[in-house]
Amino acid sequence: MDYLSTRINSLPVSETLAMAAKARELRNQGIDVIGLSLGEPDFNTPEFIKEAAIQAVKDNYNSYSPVDGYLDLKEAICLKFKRDNGLNYTPSQIVVSTGAKQSIANVCMVLLNPGDEVLLPAPYWVSYSAIATLAEAKSIIIPSSIETDFKITPEQLESAITSKTKLVMFNSPNNPSGTVYTEDEYRALAKVLEKYPDIFILSDEIYEHINYGVPHFSFASITEMTHRTITVNGVAKAFAMTGWRIGYIGAPEWIAKACNKMQGQITSGANCIAQMATIAALEAPVSKIQYMVDEFAKRREMIIELLSAIPGFILNHPKGAFYVFPDISFYIGKTLHGKTISNASDFSMFLLEKAHVATVSGEAFGNENCIRISYAASVDEIREAVKRIASILK
Ligand code: GLU
Repeated sequence: MDYLSTRINSLPVSETLAMAAKARELRNQGIDVIGLSLGEPDFNTPEFIKEAAIQAVKDNYNSYSPVDGYLDLKEAICLKFKRDNGLNYTPSQIVVSTGAKQSIANVCMVLLNPGDEVLLPAPYWVSYSAIATLAEAKSIIIPSSIETDFKITPEQLESAITSKTKLVMFNSPNNPSGTVYTEDEYRALAKVLEKYPDIFILSDEIYEHINYGVPHFSFASITEMTHRTITVNGVAKAFAMTGWRIGYIGAPEWIAKACNKMQGQITSGANCIAQMATIAALEAPVSKIQYMVDEFAKRREMIIELLSAIPGFILNHPKGAFYVFPDISFYIGKTLHGKTISNASDFSMFLLEKAHVATVSGEAFGNENCIRISYAASVDEIREAVKRIASILK
């Protein structure tokens, strides 16, 4: 008999984490798997951030922090929002959490009621729909394709809206496609939302600094949207701090208060040492992390060039994040080395089993024609991975 709740039974596993676990498992069996599934910088956390953490340990930061984060950190976050995004938040509008994932979960838990609809422009990050499901809301997918650089139009947004729509989740730079919405494009989408005052907007900007030239634009900086937008960010990607688990929101105060209450019952405050390290990260000029972005930019060019040479791989030119999201629909319906490829998941699994390269199926992100490949890996690994893929598909 199954004693588990329907809640957990109906929850899909996180495909990004599952693929990473599978790759790890194969590696433990002695198989040389190249992991391009997880979105995780391959850099070490910068020294000045580590130093701040060491100092925090020495200074005995060992007690519970306030549930919504240390005041010093919330002030640093406000300054960051002002400096980088032109947003005027006060500390009472900030909640620090155990990763941006928890920030998103908090927002969904405090805003969504059973039956509410959440609009997800696809491709969307894998956990948005799962978290919406946990909150008993319904995900409504707004599709896009490589032809439109994986962007949705204002018309598409408007036609997805119903009387049940409560939340729309934007993510730019986008995981998995690397697409970056321009200010004009966001303003055009905001024009639609202006007509629907009861819809809230979650703007996930975790890849803000991993950007190759299109100026980053924060949805909340559109004056008409500020009072109903929740800006999500964190230090994981830009500062190579994935394992430190610090995310945060800037939000209308009443939403921040509700998230504080939610978090107070689930995790209490985020790790206190990591919070102190985050102050150092956010107070540093952005130029201090530019070397990582420059390196990602080089790898982006390389992986696009190499993958584009493989027949059946169609690529866009991502403007941010560290993923490519090739359309591989050419292979769907074909039989490769005796294995029938019925969908992108089969293709991704085929690459893992036969080429020993871990990727993630686009289906996890609401797009069944693509796979996600992370290039947050060394140049040698990327080169070898693409060589293996090309050779198995020959
Ligand atoms: N956000 C990263 C990714 O998409 C980390 C994995 C996760 O948290 O799902 O690969």
